[in-house]
Amino acid sequence: MTEFFDVVVIGGGAVGASVGYFLRAQDPTVSVAVVDRDPTFEFASTPRASGGVRRLFSLPENIALSQFSIDFFRRFPTDMAVEGTGPDIGFHTDGYLFIVPPAEVDMLRDNFDIQTSLGCRVEWLEPDALAQRYPSMQVADLGAAVFSPDDGWLDPHSVLMATRATAKRLGCTFIGDEVVGFDRTPAAVTGVRLGSGRALRAEAVVNAAGAWADQICHMLGERVPITPLRRYEHYFECQDPIEPLPYLKDTQRLAFRPEGRGYSGGVPTLDEPRGVDFRVNGGYFDNVVWPALAHRFPQFERTRCLRTLAGLYDQNDFDGNVIIGPGLGGLGNFHLLAGFSGHGLMHAPGCGRAMAELLLTGGYRTIDLTRLGWQRVASGTPLPERGII
Ligand SMILES: Cc1cc2nc3c(=O)[nH]c(=O)nc-3n(C[C@H](O)[C@H](O)[C@H](O)COP(=O)(O)OP(=O)(O)OC[C@H]3O[C@@H](n4cnc5c(N)ncnc54)[C@H](O)[C@@H]3O)c2cc1C
Repeated sequence: MTEFFDVVVIGGGAVGASVGYFLRAQDPTVSVAVVDRDPTFEFASTPRASGGVRRLFSLPENIALSQFSIDFFRRFPTDMAVEGTGPDIGFHTDGYLFIVPPAEVDMLRDNFDIQTSLGCRVEWLEPDALAQRYPSMQVADLGAAVFSPDDGWLDPHSVLMATRATAKRLGCTFIGDEVVGFDRTPAAVTGVRLGSGRALRAEAVVNAAGAWADQICHMLGERVPITPLRRYEHYFECQDPIEPLPYLKDTQRLAFRPEGRGYSGGVPTLDEPRGVDFRVNGGYFDNVVWPALAHRFPQFERTRCLRTLAGLYDQNDFDGNVIIGPGLGGLGNFHLLAGFSGHGLMHAPGCGRAMAELLLTGGYRTIDLTRLGWQRVASGTPLPERGII
């Protein structure tokens, strides 16, 4: 028997769950199914994320998405509360710090100007001010830094579970099954076929399958430049004390934050073969991460990596930003929502709301994400971040 839904969302990670939540929150009459093949989310990117949330971008769209999403996360325990008890998402607003070498100061200044013009509370720090604030930090090779005090990090798994629970309470249907194919006409997707043999008819379909988004498109005979990119998250401890730190991003792509007795983070690299691969290269911490840590903070000369987890970025190799909306293969009702390239957790609320607006009203009502649509890929006009990964 074929079941009908107004919207079928493929992928129930942070992004897909957020689409389900916002659709039902904005219109309780719309029927929504979120399909995910893995009820444990063992390999999904969301629970493996570092949890960093920041306004420090250069594209106005990404800054606006962060502003909405970070405020949303702040209200999360209240807005998602059941009978007065809200979920604890472990949101630490201890700030986010970008540090750059002298050669990148102009770029950092341009980005800082855009951020302040859009109402972000950000602070410019010269190296001496940086050293005063963080006495352990080696600043001799730095040109400047920008600190965003209202940003920080949170627990991705709690965000995912609470978003799903709330979406479910609002009437969103969650289906544990694998999408294996589609029914389509030249201009539209008409149905979604599942591994169990179930068939769903849909007015609209959202591809929120993260690192597997291209696999889903391939089932339609289409391709998108979104590839699985392995990225390690390490948990490490330091023998010698360091002053309280924010989430810190270094010029060597070092990105880490405090976690319990130690720290969580890593050094993402684009020099990875693309593909689904969760194996851990035991030497990566010692050869790449540890030298970068010790270079910045002498205390990390004596550090111990206790755990490494591999997860996948849904890397948009075209320009490193999300692709949102319809148009792929001339399909008017098949919407992409993937390619976040490391920003998907922090932008899940903003993009979930944007997708709900698009589906319910035919256009963006709050943050205009038109420039992040499929047409930029089709026309070969990338819209990358400047100096920010
Ligand atoms: C180590 C690491 C650190 C990160 N740090 C950050 C960070 O600090 N801040 C940040 O914002 N982002 C970060 N990210 C990125 C972030 O995790 C992702 O961008 C985000 O989680 C994407 O969410 P999603 O819901 O699109 O994907 P996912 O969580 O991967 O969900 C996609 C779902 O689709 C399902 N699926 C796939 N194919 C099918 C199919 N055929 N049928 C049914 N279901 C299917 C999968 O089972 C999966 O559950 C990090 C990522 C990694 C790996």
